[in-house]
Amino acid sequence: MKSNELREEFLHFFKSKQHTIVPSAPMVIKNDPTLMFTNAGMNQFKDIFLGNKPAEYKRVANAQKCLRVSGKHNDLEEVGLDTYHHTMFEMLGNWSFGDYFKKEAIEWAWEFLTKKLGISEDRLYATIFEGSPEENVPRDNEASSYWEKCFSNPRGKILEGSKKDNFWEMGETGPCGPCSEIHVDIRSDEERLKIPGEQLVNKGHPQVIEIWNLVFIQYNRKANGSLEVLPSHHVDTGMGFERLCMVTQGKRSNYDTDIFQPIISEIASITGKPYGVDAKTDIAHRVIADHLRTVAFSVADSQLPSNNRAGYVIRRILRRAVRYGYTTLGMTEPFIYRLVPVLVHTMGGHYPELISQQELITNVIHEEEQSFLKTLGKGLRMIERKIDELKENKATDFSGKAAFELYDTYGFPVDLTQLILRENGLTLNNDEFTEELNAQKERSRNDAVKVSGDWIVVRDSEGTVFTGYDKTEDDIKIVRYRKINVKGKDLYQLVFDRTPFYAESGGQTGDNGYIESDNERIEVSNTVKENNLIIHISANPPADAFAPFRAVINVKARQLTARNHTATHLLHYALRSILGSHVEQKGSLVSPEKLRFDFSHFNRVTPEELTQAERMVNEIIMSNIIRIVHENVPVDEAKKMGAMALFGEKYGNNVRVIRFGNSVELCGGTHVESTGTIGLFKIISEGAVAAGIRRIEAVTSENALNYVNEKLNSLNEISGMIKSTGNITAGVLKLIEENKALRQTIEKMQDNAALAKRKELTDKAEIFNGYTIFSYILEDATPDMIKNIAHQIMQSNSEIAIVIGSSFEGKAFLLVAFTDNIVKSKTLNADEIIKSVSSEINGGGGGQPFLATAGGKKPEGLQQAVKKAVDKIKSML
Ligand code: ATP
Ligand code: MG
Repeated sequence: MKSNELREEFLHFFKSKQHTIVPSAPMVIKNDPTLMFTNAGMNQFKDIFLGNKPAEYKRVANAQKCLRVSGKHNDLEEVGLDTYHHTMFEMLGNWSFGDYFKKEAIEWAWEFLTKKLGISEDRLYATIFEGSPEENVPRDNEASSYWEKCFSNPRGKILEGSKKDNFWEMGETGPCGPCSEIHVDIRSDEERLKIPGEQLVNKGHPQVIEIWNLVFIQYNRKANGSLEVLPSHHVDTGMGFERLCMVTQGKRSNYDTDIFQPIISEIASITGKPYGVDAKTDIAHRVIADHLRTVAFSVADSQLPSNNRAGYVIRRILRRAVRYGYTTLGMTEPFIYRLVPVLVHTMGGHYPELISQQELITNVIHEEEQSFLKTLGKGLRMIERKIDELKENKATDFSGKAAFELYDTYGFPVDLTQLILRENGLTLNNDEFTEELNAQKERSRNDAVKVSGDWIVVRDSEGTVFTGYDKTEDDIKIVRYRKINVKGKDLYQLVFDRTPFYAESGGQTGDNGYIESDNERIEVSNTVKENNLIIHISANPPADAFAPFRAVINVKARQLTARNHTATHLLHYALRSILGSHVEQKGSLVSPEKLRFDFSHFNRVTPEELTQAERMVNEIIMSNIIRIVHENVPVDEAKKMGAMALFGEKYGNNVRVIRFGNSVELCGGTHVESTGTIGLFKIISEGAVAAGIRRIEAVTSENALNYVNEKLNSLNEISGMIKSTGNITAGVLKLIEENKALRQTIEKMQDNAALAKRKELTDKAEIFNGYTIFSYILEDATPDMIKNIAHQIMQSNSEIAIVIGSSFEGKAFLLVAFTDNIVKSKTLNADEIIKSVSSEINGGGGGQPFLATAGGKKPEGLQQAVKKAVDKIKSML
């Protein structure tokens, strides 16, 4: 069965069991502080399991894009080396939220695999939780009893597993429970006769692998480590789609299925290195095929490679692929971007974001490849230099610090460094490298540490009602709160039954303000979302959490933010009208101070286009268009209204549509009632953020007014300074011209002065062992002048050494220079010499082997410095 049919077959099967099929959530997660990427199908249902949100449907199934490259699940190191772990993969899953439990979950999994797909039961094994007496959790006899009914001969088929493999936990705290895995043995009959499969389950054998994990959520782990039984029980299952394809297509490796083969053939044809011939190059093929998918899907989800967080993870993955291409397949030119069409062809059917973002994906990958290949080149040169040094000194141990610098600053992978060292008969100081690496990890861990206590539940609640679209204050009740500790500082998180506070999301910053009861007032410094939970952050806990409170937001900040948010929509609309419909939002930030809008566009936005966009936005502002809000519109209907759904954003079935005239957007943010209140819109910058992505920053209302006034004030000041009453530009131009002419005159005079000095100086040259040494102390010569003199002197002869000291405006300057001949024949190094004598003038400096300069605070030391330098030079001539 073809992979695309198999995915449909799974969804169809669970549909027939009354499951609602939901779309894959984005692979990149935006509002969960604990998770950067979706790493399992259940992530998007976290709120339901945590009890923050009621379930919309009791039974759900889907195919979810997952990425396991950071945190709890990190398979990156395996990928490519083995044949069944990917970075990005699809997880097929079915869920029950307080509905069916172990019996149905097990029976249906069995029915699907054996009846629908015809996988022979003698290749299948089930594992169950062995129990944990110290935690008071019994062996999962229930699951075991259902499996016994599935297998016609259950002997040796149901295996017990420990907490490591068979007890699932969402995190340090929260929902958890026993799980039951299905493993499949795809070895040949002959091999299976030799060693029974039951001995190989969970032993890392590449052909006896886990394909499906059924998790039975029945406990909650509390902050003190204890377990409590949950009132309602849930099912959460996940099956590796690529592994399932391998099994049903009768292959031995995920990479031999129709998901990967087209990509691998393309790699082979581009690189001229066939797959399946050499174990080493095969790894490279697999790495590249795998990483291509990760990067493409991530870019489609609007997560571009960058230097921080999720963006950095993606950048490193792409670099890993480039490196394998470079070292193993000899690809010194970008080529991974050329694989995009095949990927889009194989997967675009089910994931249309690949089709619509194809051009962007291609450009981003191409540019990243180019720049990393340059880095690789630079790193290689640096290693070569260091290797030469080592060899000269007859040493063999390459410094771990240097390897770490290569890795950290240049993105140069340490295993590549090691490889090159091995080829040169050298070794890496591994301990030193590890030490540096650990120190860095420790630094970033300390940056991120956040410890949460248990929630203190004050009242029952079905989730928070957001009332901030209409209100800036409201009567609220605290439903729960907890203490958290961020970087050593205690803070409190408060959750209300209803709230006028907008939580940071969709690029809009969170509200601040305060809540107040008869007896106390608590400042709210920020409002954030964790999944869908609206959390108010405060420095203090409530003294009486049961009291009724009045919540009041900072209205001024909210108003300014709303103006910027509406202006962002108008700018988006204007850019699409002026530049074309390829313009799509790729990121935005809306705060009280300003707005930032990132969008896809492949050229610079010209000044004329910017002016045009700014004018268009201001015209809409002046037309004072009234806001129209459509709440709870089905997504398809919203699209018909002209609203654009952004890839990488998570939308429910029903969405909120904000319309200002022709600008229509899906948006949960807060907006002005009519555009007139924005007052004024002013663009302050335009630039590139990545390949094919531009960024515009702008200000509105009073911030725009301030901005314009500041500019005008500067202009006024300038016109005052140049005493121009009319045309300032002409006045400034005149000044620039005059300045240029003056500079030319001065340069000429300096040249003449230097010439005169030179004559005076050349007369004082000293001949030493056949070389000419010039050494002087000058007064009132600028650094530029002494450089100039040195250059002129050096033209007179090819065997010259120069040392000049000069005092100027109470400071000391030194210069040491050699003609090329001397540098080469005598290994004299001006940089080293100047460094060794600049302490005499209480300063420092450096430069090249043929010319170096230093500056210092102690002109009295010049005499001594020059003398020392000359002595050093003489000792080497
Ligand atoms: P394994 O032990 O093989 O790494 P796991 O215990 O990490 O698997 P789960 O977290 O239970 O796997 O995920 C559910 C299913 O997702 C697995 O049964 C497997 O089929 C699939 N899966 C897990 N990790 C990967 C991966 N890196 N690449 C492809 N499929 C995977
Ligand atoms: Mg794993």
